[in-house]
Amino acid sequence: MPKLALVTGASSGIGASYTRLLAAEGYNLVLVARDGRRLEALCTELSKAHGIDANFFIADLTTESGCSKVEEFLATNEVDVLINNAGYGLNSAFTKSEIAKEQEVLNILVRTPMRLCHAVLPGMKARGRGIVVNVSSVAGFIAGGAYSAMKSYVTVLSESLNAELAGTGVTVSALCPGFTRTEFHQRASMKMDSLPNFMWLNADRLVSKSWSDAKRGKAVSVPGWQYRALLLVIRIAPRAWVRQTGMNLRRKQR
Ligand code: NAP
Repeated sequence: MPKLALVTGASSGIGASYTRLLAAEGYNLVLVARDGRRLEALCTELSKAHGIDANFFIADLTTESGCSKVEEFLATNEVDVLINNAGYGLNSAFTKSEIAKEQEVLNILVRTPMRLCHAVLPGMKARGRGIVVNVSSVAGFIAGGAYSAMKSYVTVLSESLNAELAGTGVTVSALCPGFTRTEFHQRASMKMDSLPNFMWLNADRLVSKSWSDAKRGKAVSVPGWQYRALLLVIRIAPRAWVRQTGMNLRRKQR
């Protein structure tokens, strides 16, 4: 029987790459995002190319109704793979941003993946199989503002669930991308001109590494030699330096 995967933030970037990889592996798909036109076009492309069933939900995952719609689907259907990917960043200092905007980002980056994990995992555990990939960020290892704090939650929750579910046949894996060429930076009007070319990752290669790590049961996946090297530096450097460098980087993007 074909397996079923649900991908949030499937209309572009990392999420769209994940839909292509999973369709090529024969998964039937449920795509979630706000842009119905893009989702419909992607569903048509994927079902034609791979002979799979692809459907979509239009949902704004910053809202309670958008989150509950997907939560309900996960709790009442046999979903084998969940990719918790939808998200965006705010490009302003915490002390200058609007609280409503901070709350919306918290909703999509923290509340939604937490609730979707909670909805899908009991069924996966009962069936003795399943993979959840939570798209976090290397920003979660530094102190680069509220976004870092939110991604840190996602990584630590994923690690904890990975350990809690050891031996059940279910894997939870945090994908921690570094700078990846998607619509992310443009949507947040971030200035990225000074970032050296070698620091940019390709979304398809990132996703391919994340998926092979998740299938091997890895709790945290950090694709790209440059980001694994950076992680070593972050681990041994004084935390005060890590804080200052993280916040300087954020300032340069504004
Ligand atoms: P992207 O190309 O901008 O894709 C973001 C996806 O999220 C889109 O499909 C978008 O679809 C969806 N989305 C945004 N707001 C939404 C909302 N309110 N409700 C539902 N869906 C929403 O960016 P990306 O880089 O692929 O981002 C994916 C994930 O990677 C995010 O969690 C991000 O934090 C993380 N990440 C990215 C980078 C990077 O450098 N690109 C680095 C580290 C982590 P619609 O607009 O159609 O809703």
